[in-house]
Amino acid sequence: MLDIKVEKTQCPKEKPGKDDPLLFGTIFTDHMFVMDYDEEKGWYDPRIVPYADLTLSPAATIFHYGQGVFEGLKAYNSENGNVNLFRPDMNAKRSNRSSDRLCIPEIPEEDYIQAIEQLVALDKDWIPSEPDHSLYIRPFIIGTDPFLGLKTSRYYQFIIILSPVGPYYPEGLDPVSIWIEDDYVRAVRGGIGEAKTGGNYAASILSQVKAHDEGYSQVLWLDGVERKYIEEVGAMNIFFKIGGKVVTPKLNGSILPGITRDSVIQLCKEWGYEVEEKRISIDEIYEAHKAGILEEVWGTGTAAVISPVGKLRWGDEIMQVKDGGIGELSHKLYDTVSGIQLGKIEDTHGWIVEI
Ligand code: PMP
Repeated sequence: MLDIKVEKTQCPKEKPGKDDPLLFGTIFTDHMFVMDYDEEKGWYDPRIVPYADLTLSPAATIFHYGQGVFEGLKAYNSENGNVNLFRPDMNAKRSNRSSDRLCIPEIPEEDYIQAIEQLVALDKDWIPSEPDHSLYIRPFIIGTDPFLGLKTSRYYQFIIILSPVGPYYPEGLDPVSIWIEDDYVRAVRGGIGEAKTGGNYAASILSQVKAHDEGYSQVLWLDGVERKYIEEVGAMNIFFKIGGKVVTPKLNGSILPGITRDSVIQLCKEWGYEVEEKRISIDEIYEAHKAGILEEVWGTGTAAVISPVGKLRWGDEIMQVKDGGIGELSHKLYDTVSGIQLGKIEDTHGWIVEI
């Protein structure tokens, strides 16, 4: 158990009002959590301090070689007055797996969760209660060694910041349109695709800009070798309902193992759907669309929970999914997962941690 020192802010910030639009990730709460690491002491000096800029050496490892990992989860004001976290143990585990891949020292799961809980409890008045609003939690670990040689950092900081957020997509639950990228790739097997680390996102920005310019809100990545098999979307995993069956790309080393993905697979199975995690080629999706059996497409992720997909563009082909509306299963999944998160639906899976 961490002994976290708390230094409260002397100048609390003004909280956003009920009618202020909370654009994703633009406003930050009064406090942040910080913990240091060095080779002799291990992780030490856990503290909650007023939210402030960092002071780091310009030579710090993170700036040059990107040795850092991050996570994303949310805290919700629940119906019964508690604050709910959704499966934070999964974020702690995934962070350690990402750290292993990037030679960053692990953080004990219980310490990781305790730090989140204590920070959220202190800033809980920042959690908005409007529909589809929550407090986004961004834990991250950065290499801070002031040394320009390429090697693993000797020093790290684990930091958690909090941001009150509204809906991730301006479309809300309205279907998003997706650009299938067959030129650039995001990740390759054996690379860092399954780690939540900045490099994967840096690799994706150019295609994201291109997709936006063409009027599409997200990019769907194909595999890095043949550019044939479907991987995932910018910040979501992807699901298809084809002829009554639910299919999603299997975790292959270059896809982020999403926590929403895992929850959705469990729910679909419980509801009696056949769920297959497999290699899915883009041709298979195209054929299903032509045959009229591509019933639903949706993305899964912490930010938007479930994002129905209405349109997919692949080269010159535009595939509209059914009538372009919100599919029945996508809707039910959204209602169920967000209902559990908000305490409106009983949590029979042990997914909720109350603060
Ligand atoms: N893929 C990528 C690349 C992501 O950034 C995210 C968001 N963390 C996801 C999938 C969805 O993961 P989760 O359901 O854990 O948010």
